[in-house]
Amino acid sequence: MRTIEDSLEFVGRFVPVAKSYIARRLDEVKPEFPLVLKIVSQRFVHKTEVMGVRIVNNQEELGKNFDELKRIKGVNAVLVQEFVKGTELIVGLKQDASFGHAIMFGVGGIMAELLKDVSFRICPITDKDAQSMIDDLKAKDLLTGFRGQKPVNLRLLKRILIRISEIPGKYPDLKELDINPLVINDKDALVVDARLELC
Ligand code: ADP
Ligand code: MG
Repeated sequence: MRTIEDSLEFVGRFVPVAKSYIARRLDEVKPEFPLVLKIVSQRFVHKTEVMGVRIVNNQEELGKNFDELKRIKGVNAVLVQEFVKGTELIVGLKQDASFGHAIMFGVGGIMAELLKDVSFRICPITDKDAQSMIDDLKAKDLLTGFRGQKPVNLRLLKRILIRISEIPGKYPDLKELDINPLVINDKDALVVDARLELC
């Protein structure tokens, strides 16, 4: 399993990723609030399980949270990321022994595993496939303007799904890629977390 920084760097070659950088010391963090701090560690699959993701609104919170994260065992650096607003989606790639690579898409965030509202296709996909994956979701209304919210940028979402489905063509050794979440709103879509496994 690659670290979050390597995984985001990889994903960033294909689709937009939230601005991120590594800080080893507090004075390396640019005071641009709100920002998000995340532990960089091979030890934990889910950073939130050890409270390893913190949203920070000011300098005082920054100092406190940065110190707390660095004190978690097995953490030697902190990833600093821009704060992004929107709906959380999950996009994954998985190597299958008989079908090659498949793309998975659905409701993301920390509830993803609970809701399991996802759809699968064999890679690569067309624009039509991307649309049908969106149409498959039970929670599709989340994307098309639920309770007066603006619909998310569906054209961009489809482009992103297509581009991700094309990655295995370029990297046949890719074993698994887990993007959760991709945060999307009416304008932009940015990957804020990813986990990559190459063979
Ligand atoms: P985990 O390793 O637990 O999956 P994530 O990086 O996915 O950690 O962060 C957990 C949750 O924190 C996300 O589902 C999202 O709700 C929130 N989050 C993470 N990064 C950002 C960000 N850059 N902007 C806004 N919210 C974020
Ligand atoms: Mg995540």
